[in-house]
Amino acid sequence: MSKFGVVMSRKCEICGRGTVSGQNAPRKGLPKKKGGAGVHIGVTTKRTFKINLHSKYIESNGVRKKTRLCTRCLRTLTRKAYLNA
Ligand SMILES: [Zn+2]
Repeated sequence: MSKFGVVMSRKCEICGRGTVSGQNAPRKGLPKKKGGAGVHIGVTTKRTFKINLHSKYIESNGVRKKTRLCTRCLRTLTRKAYLNA
């Protein structure tokens, strides 16, 4: 449960990106670069990459609305605001 009282999917409301899955690959052994016999990959397990979300009030068509957006979109917005000012 989120602090807003409703369950929301972890997604950016602008670009729609969300959590993606990948693999954890533990490396064992000393790398050849460091004078070892080389590294071996251990048992790979599934992992998730969570999106870096932030909530921000955004004004569109004169309506101020709380929006959950990723840091990439946040950066784009601040850059656009800087260019327009
Ligand atoms: Zn986004």
